Amino acid sequence: MSNKYDVVVIGAGPAGYVAAIRCAQLGFKTACVEKWHDDKGNAVYGGTCLNVGCIPSKALLDSSHKYAEAHKDFITHGISADNVTMDVPAMIARKAKIVGQLTQGVKSLFSANKVEGIAGTGKLLAGKKVLVTKHDGTTEEISADNIILAAGSVPINIPPTPIDNDIIVDSTGALEFSSVPKRLGVIGAGVIGLELGSVWSRLGAEVTVLEAMDAFLPAVDTQIAKEAQKILTKQGLIIKLGAKVTGSKITGKGKSKSVTVSYTDANGPQEAVFDKLIVAVGRRPLTENLVDAGSGVELDKRGFVVVDDSCATAVPGVYAAGDIVRGPMLAHKGMEEGVMVAERIAGKKTQVNYSLVPFVIYTHPEIAWVGKTEQQLQQEGREYNIGTFPFSINGRAMAANDTDGMVKILADAKTDRVLGCHIIGPSAADLVQQIVIAMEFSASSEDIGLTMFSHPALSEAVHEAALAVNGHAVHMVNKRKR
Ligand code: FAD
Ligand code: NAD
Repeated sequence: MSNKYDVVVIGAGPAGYVAAIRCAQLGFKTACVEKWHDDKGNAVYGGTCLNVGCIPSKALLDSSHKYAEAHKDFITHGISADNVTMDVPAMIARKAKIVGQLTQGVKSLFSANKVEGIAGTGKLLAGKKVLVTKHDGTTEEISADNIILAAGSVPINIPPTPIDNDIIVDSTGALEFSSVPKRLGVIGAGVIGLELGSVWSRLGAEVTVLEAMDAFLPAVDTQIAKEAQKILTKQGLIIKLGAKVTGSKITGKGKSKSVTVSYTDANGPQEAVFDKLIVAVGRRPLTENLVDAGSGVELDKRGFVVVDDSCATAVPGVYAAGDIVRGPMLAHKGMEEGVMVAERIAGKKTQVNYSLVPFVIYTHPEIAWVGKTEQQLQQEGREYNIGTFPFSINGRAMAANDTDGMVKILADAKTDRVLGCHIIGPSAADLVQQIVIAMEFSASSEDIGLTMFSHPALSEAVHEAALAVNGHAVHMVNKRKR
C-alpha cells in the first residue's frame, strides 16, 4: 500500500476517529495512526473516552446507582432487597466488556469505511509528513495533503501526591479498584472527582473530596451548584472547600497501606488518612513530541495546539481537534470538531457553534447545562427573566421516587430568546438536549411553552420552566403572573 494519503489523522479518540470516518465517507484516502494497543500490539481505537473515560466511568456510575437504589430506594416502592451485595470484580469486568464492545465497534467502522488504521506513535514533520514509530521500534514515514492532529489529553499530576498506581491513583486507576476502599480521598471537586467519588461512595466508601477553590463548581449556575452541593453532601460526600494539598505520605504494608494527606484550609494545617486517594485536578493536552519544531505548528504556553475557529493551524492543510485545542475537554466537542475539519477539507463551510456546547456531570441527580449562567448574565449587565420548575412536583419524577432538583431557564428580558438552561435532576443530560436544539433555532421561552410535551414525562419540567419565564406555568404557583 502506498504511503501517500489524502488525509492522515494522528489519534483515534472521539475527535480523531470521527474525523477519519467522515473523511473516508467524503471519499478521501484516509489513515489513522493510533498508539494505544493491546497485548498483541494491535491498535485499540476510541481514545480516553472509550477506554478510560466517558464510557467506563458511566458503566460504573450505572452499576453503583443500581446498587444504591436497591439499598436505599427499593423499599419505598414496596420491594425488600435485604441481602443485596456488590461483587466489585464482576462490576469491573462488566465495564471492561462494554469498553471492548465499543472499541471493537470503532475498528469495524474503520474497516467498513475503508479507514486504514496504523498501530504506532505519530509525529508531524515538516512538509505534511508523519513519522510513525511502530511498537517494535521500527519507523515508517507517511505523508498526506491534509493532517489532522487529535492526540487528546492525559491527567495532570501534582507534586504533593505522586501517582503510585496502588494507593494514589488518577482517574484511570480509580476505574480499576478491586474492592471498595473504606476511606477514599479525592483531590479535586471537578467533574471526575464528583463522578468517581459518587461511584465509590454509593458502594460504601467514606469519601472526602478536597477542593482547592473556595467555591463549589464555580462554572455551574450558582443556584444549581448550591443545590448540587446540598444533595451530594446529603448522599454522604464530605466536600472540603478551600483545601490546598501540600503533601502525602504512604505508610504500612500490603493491605494495611494508607496515605496521610496534608493540606491547609481556613483553619490552618490539616491531615487526613485514606486507604486510596484519587487525584483529579484536571487534564493537559498530550502534545509533547507530537509536532517537530520544523513543522510550523505552534503550541501555546500550556501545550495546546494553536488553531482558529475552524480548527486550522497556521500551516495550510494541518488541523487539530479535540482535547489538544482550546475549549472544553469534552468528547462531543471533539467529535463535532472532527466532522467540521473533515468537511472543511472537502470544501464545505461547516462550523461548530461553541456557544452551545452542552455540559453534563453524571452524578445522581445529573447536572447539565447549556448557554449562559445567571452569574454570567449579571456580569454582562444583561436583563433577563428566569423560569424554574422543581422535580418535586413533576408527576413522572414522583412516580419514580426521583424528585431532587429543578429546571431553570434564562431568557432575554426584551426578546424572550432563551439564553441558558440549567438542570439538576433525573435524566438532566437528555433533558438539556431539548434546549440545545431549541437554542440552535433561536427559540424564545414562549416557543418552548407553546410546544406540546408528552405526559407524564420528566421533560414536562422543562416545559413548565419555559412557561414560568413569563409567569404562565400551570402546574405551580408562578412567582409573577403576566
Ligand atoms: P482522546 O480521547 O484522549 O484520544 C486521543 C488518542 O490519541 C488516544 O487514543 C491516544 O492514544 C492517541 N495518541 C496520542 N498521541 C498520539 C501519537 N503521537 N500518535 C498516535 N496516537 C496518539 N467527556 C464527555 O464529553 N463526557 C463524559 O462523560 C466524559 N467522561 C470522562 C470521564 C473520565 C474519567 C475522563 C478521564 C474523561 C472524560 N471525558 C468525558 C473527557 C473525554 O474523554 C475527552 O474529552 C475525549 O476523550 C477527548 O477526545 P480526543 O479525541 O480529543 O482525545
Ligand atoms: P476539572 O477541571 O473538572 O476539575 C478539577 C478540580 O480540581 C477543580 O475544581 C480544581 O479547582 C481542582 N484542583 C486543581 N488543583 C487542585 C489542587 N492542587 N488541590 C485541590 N484541588 C485542585 O478536571 P477533572 O475533574 O480532572 O476532569 C478533567 C477533564 O475531563 C475536564 O475538563 C472535564 O471536562 C473532562 N470530563 C468530563 C466529564 C463529563 O463531561 N461528564 C467527566 C469527566 C471528565
